[in-house]
Amino acid sequence: MAWEIIKKEFNKQNLLVNESLFALGNGYLGVRGNFEEGYSKGEPSIRGTYINAFHDITEIQYGEKAYGFPETQQKMLNIIDAQTIQIYLGEEKEHFSLFEGKVLSFCQTLHMDRGFSERAVHWRSPSGKEIKLTFSRLVSFVQRELFAIELSLEPVNFSGPVRIVSTVNGDVENYVNKNDPRIASGDAKRLAVTEAKQIGDYSVVSTRAFVSGLETACAASHTVSVPCECRFEAAEKQVRAIIDFRLDQPVNVTKFNIYTDTLRHHGNVAEKAAAIQESVKGKDFSFFLKEQERYLSEYWKAADVEISGDPKLQEGIRFNLYQLLQFVGKDSASNIAAKGLSGEGYEGHYFWDTEIYIFPVFLLTRPDIARNLLLYRYNILDHARARAKEMGHKKGALFPWRTISGTECSAYFPAGTAQYHISADIAYSYVQYFYATHDEVFMRQYGVEVLAETARLWLETGHYNRDGKFVIEDVTGPDEYTAIVNNNYYTNVMAKFNLKSAHHFYHWLKTTDPAYFTELCDRIGLLGEEAAEWQKAGDAMYLPYDAKLGIHKQDDSFLEKAVWDFEHTPKDHYPLLLHYHPLTIYRYQVCKQADTVLAHFLLEDEADPETIRNSYHYYEKVTTHDSSLSSCIFSIMASKLGEAEKAYHYFIETARLDLDNTHGNTKDGLHMANMGGTWMSIVYGFAGVRIKESGLSVDPSIPEQWERYAFRLTYQNRKLQIEVTRGSVTVVLTEGEALRIRLFGREETLLPGKVVARAIHH
Ligand code: BGC
Repeated sequence: MAWEIIKKEFNKQNLLVNESLFALGNGYLGVRGNFEEGYSKGEPSIRGTYINAFHDITEIQYGEKAYGFPETQQKMLNIIDAQTIQIYLGEEKEHFSLFEGKVLSFCQTLHMDRGFSERAVHWRSPSGKEIKLTFSRLVSFVQRELFAIELSLEPVNFSGPVRIVSTVNGDVENYVNKNDPRIASGDAKRLAVTEAKQIGDYSVVSTRAFVSGLETACAASHTVSVPCECRFEAAEKQVRAIIDFRLDQPVNVTKFNIYTDTLRHHGNVAEKAAAIQESVKGKDFSFFLKEQERYLSEYWKAADVEISGDPKLQEGIRFNLYQLLQFVGKDSASNIAAKGLSGEGYEGHYFWDTEIYIFPVFLLTRPDIARNLLLYRYNILDHARARAKEMGHKKGALFPWRTISGTECSAYFPAGTAQYHISADIAYSYVQYFYATHDEVFMRQYGVEVLAETARLWLETGHYNRDGKFVIEDVTGPDEYTAIVNNNYYTNVMAKFNLKSAHHFYHWLKTTDPAYFTELCDRIGLLGEEAAEWQKAGDAMYLPYDAKLGIHKQDDSFLEKAVWDFEHTPKDHYPLLLHYHPLTIYRYQVCKQADTVLAHFLLEDEADPETIRNSYHYYEKVTTHDSSLSSCIFSIMASKLGEAEKAYHYFIETARLDLDNTHGNTKDGLHMANMGGTWMSIVYGFAGVRIKESGLSVDPSIPEQWERYAFRLTYQNRKLQIEVTRGSVTVVLTEGEALRIRLFGREETLLPGKVVARAIHH
């Protein structure tokens, strides 16, 4: 039960949301859970198929453009639609549609252990023909180009001729909405069809993006389990397979769609797609289904979280972990978009969401994927260097706030480019990766360079004030309801960590690999004095503090502002960003999301426990959680502070955010960062896991609503299982050599296979 998401109701109100919830993907390809047969006129649907990082370049229109504003941006494109399959019954060719006739039963299921979705329908046509249809689909984890659909038809009171019309269509557009800044407002059509034809057994459509020139092709093949007649019609922008057979017994029709693109495939994309079709010939749907199961059983072995005593939350955490795996990029050309490949919100852009909310999950479950996410950043380092120059800095790397191919795509700089902290967030992830894997080769080859270039940025951005403190002015922290401020605590403390880590790893490289050290210094013109300057600036970093309240100030001016009038703000005025001009919001103490509180989580040793507690309580009162990146951080920190009820409350907010559409915009795609946040609320929150230079520590508690929870970690080439019940915690090292950890603050040595059990004190 907890491995399945089931929707038994056919409810027109939920069509769009369910399209996101039933989206399938593998990190390369993503397909929304649209109905194959389509919708009746007037019923909403965002029909979408996406390839990670496949984009066009669009111009950004400004009323008033200033120097350094990005002129273009990338936009993830909705590509060739191969979902469409129409079904016609009888001589009179009655068209199957859920919006006509009668739906006698309906059941849509996502199988998270088996990697496929299913839509089973018992339908009576307007003239009384009854059939049962099941649409099963998968996007293969092992053959990344494959999106397969298997349609099973079962006669009930009808037998006779059936016609299937299956389409590959290049005439597609992106979804736009002029009134929501989280969705694109224009440039719907960006893909030209270059070819649509039948090549042997394959219906092939090729397309090219208008400006980026990126190309993608889809080749579809069909197999039918009974004798049939099949012909093909190629039009300007689509190819249709028309398949006729008799339905007297159950019949299966399988459609294999192979997608290729010029970002990953060499040569002609159509030919390449046809060649991949050839290579999967003879393998059927059930073959790929078994492969899905195998792949997923490995994943769940490493990543599953079990919660006993709360099936709804169990469902929530598994769903979120499943979606993260479905949509995280697994090649170094791609990363993970804010909505994955489940929708078009935020135009397929990658944000800091990756490093701070999603990377941690993979770091401790699939470090190979975590490594790949870091490699993506390394691959765009040259763009980040160029952007730093454009922003007036002599040296260093400024990573883009939002991007696909590496250049800044944010048109609204106060909540975009000004979020310089993203560069420190990336640096932080490299260090976390090193702590959790001890992958010295990676740190040498990529890490030190990223740390050095980001550290340089801070020296360029900040300066020493009259008191000799290092200050950073005119930046925006994570909280997007406060913009362009001086000394945002989060930014400063993360920059401090960045500077000091860069200094540390500079010397580490110098001693562990002098040859590569010299090569790197020559290549990026790095001088010994620079590293000393990083250390000095880090040590002198100004961290704004208010002695009266005993809290770190979010920035120099935050506490001087009036507190937002929450009492008189109507409920339907949230999220505030859709109801108030940004300036109105900036003038008040009001936070969209965790900011200082997040800094206290990421770098907890930078503040004393009392300050952390006071800050939590202060900022909680002024935070709206209008961003889905907020509740999880408050949950983690409430756990740390021993405020169990609150920790649980915030956890619930995260766990089912998309399943219950609590933010009201799941139709535009799933909130991937929040999904990572659910896992973090359990692992970092309830279980109190921390990864530091000193090692792994665990400090578990258990919500009083739960009987038990258990999870797995991959850490420094070892695998651990941690189980927490109401009375005790047990830790087992299931793979790898002995390991020292801290459990409830005490040193413990884990020996292979031996259980370490300790009592929990409530
Ligand atoms: C949040 C950002 C986040 C972005 C993409 C915004 O609403 O404020 O922190 O990076 O969404 O998820």
